[in-house]
Amino acid sequence: MTSSKELVSGYYNKLLKRNAGEPEFHQAVAEVLDSLKIVLEKDPHYADYGLIQRLCEPERQIIFRVPWISDNNNVHVNRGFRVQFNSALGPYKGGLRFHPSVNLGIIKFLGFEQIFKNSLTGLPIGGGKGGSDFDPKGRSDAEIMRFCQSFMTELYRHIGEYRDVPAGDIGVGGREIGYLFGQYRRLTVQHESGVLTGKGLTWGGSLVRTEATGYGAVYFTNEMMRTHGESLDGAKVIVSGSGNVAIYAMEKAQELGATVVGFSDSSGWVSTPNGVDIQLLKDIKDNRRERVSQYVKETTGATFNADGTIWSLEADVALPCATQNELNGEHAQMLVDNGVKYVAEGANMPSTPEAIEIFRKSGVHFAPGKAANAGGVATSALEMQQNASRDSWSFEYTDQRLHKIMSNIFQRCDQTAKEYDREGDYVIGANIAGFKKVADAMLAQGVI
Ligand code: GLU
Repeated sequence: MTSSKELVSGYYNKLLKRNAGEPEFHQAVAEVLDSLKIVLEKDPHYADYGLIQRLCEPERQIIFRVPWISDNNNVHVNRGFRVQFNSALGPYKGGLRFHPSVNLGIIKFLGFEQIFKNSLTGLPIGGGKGGSDFDPKGRSDAEIMRFCQSFMTELYRHIGEYRDVPAGDIGVGGREIGYLFGQYRRLTVQHESGVLTGKGLTWGGSLVRTEATGYGAVYFTNEMMRTHGESLDGAKVIVSGSGNVAIYAMEKAQELGATVVGFSDSSGWVSTPNGVDIQLLKDIKDNRRERVSQYVKETTGATFNADGTIWSLEADVALPCATQNELNGEHAQMLVDNGVKYVAEGANMPSTPEAIEIFRKSGVHFAPGKAANAGGVATSALEMQQNASRDSWSFEYTDQRLHKIMSNIFQRCDQTAKEYDREGDYVIGANIAGFKKVADAMLAQGVI
């Protein structure tokens, strides 16, 4: 009989051949399949009916041309993507990323992660992801609007409240969702609020959605620390990034008594031994759309570094909230040597496999993104609930729901790891708990 190990490596080798040149997708799949070996040993029926092969193959992949004209009258042609990965649990759900690094492999890795993340939220949402290799940096507001309108002119026919519900991700925030929604409404002649999440508050958006990914990651971290008899109160925290996820992770961490000792963007990192002035940072990043070096010019006690790495700072907790593979083995070793005991991923797959291995071996408590950053998409699902019932909830109520969802995700990861004799391994806990719910639904729905 073929062992579960052989079975899984067989699937993986085929996947490598069929999806050549997509290293991030390979990485995301490899991590999940590694966890599934243990599941298949206990429950071999999860390999029945081609379940694993079907899970790794998107239900649909849409690639399209996005032409647009810049302010200086040049024609630009970008590529648009929407990967509708799995809808066994609900409509496809996941963000849109606008960044020059975007390609099919990146969108597939993000879409694949989203399946398990969305399953972990306990809410009825499938997994999908999309975006474009468009670079919003330095573009005028009018250029962003024209790009979003062109992008939606193709995407609108593939999405809908019951079909696929995009949201934001890197490079797509409230402004972009506004332009995308406007064009969708114009093309469909319907005010279908449930088609996108992350909307403005007066036209179907939800309170707490902006804060949700960062707040959620911190709720998860605090829950994980509580299990080990500690808390964020008095802790030193490194937060990489300075986008939406990072800013609200910093805000909540400091609210809970932590000191945020550093943050970053692609131009460098800032050391803040006395904590971060969140209002100032929000103004610089959100309103003025400037770089983090500006922060040190407008405050005292902070230093900007264009070289080196934010991971060289001393801290108790690290929250990578920037982008995939930003934290490698060398960085992980620095963190361990400097006393970090907890790492929770606010971004999607920010730690490389080498980094995760170092955390595991060194006894660092590590929360993978698909669990720790699920608060954003969970609150998107709460936005969908409010849209479906034509209602809007208070900040306090929505925040309570988010808090409860994050605690439940932590408990599920913790318990599942224990069930499989891997106590404290939240990677295995998240992958297996996320997988089982989707797998049961797929088996019940037949070979489709
Ligand atoms: N882009 C976010 C994520 O990675 C949010 C997706 C959503 O709200 O649909 O989960």
